[in-house]
Amino acid sequence: MTFPNKVCAVCSEEFELRPDKPGFANRCPACSEPEQVDAVTMTGIDADERKTLKEANEARRLAMRDLLYRKDS
Ligand SMILES: [Zn+2]
Repeated sequence: MTFPNKVCAVCSEEFELRPDKPGFANRCPACSEPEQVDAVTMTGIDADERKTLKEANEARRLAMRDLLYRKDS
């Protein structure tokens, strides 16, 4: 069985689009890897660190919203 050949949107390299290929359908396996590394990093940290990260993101988002809101008024 052959798979359709696609051109990677990132590096313009041709690759086989396999149904079980991880990552984006328009990216070759090599260019899909950063996402996988991210996933590994996320599972590599413990729950406390993840909570801290989440809280930091939340605080940043609130600060951004505050900033935008102030600009509007
Ligand atoms: Zn690529």
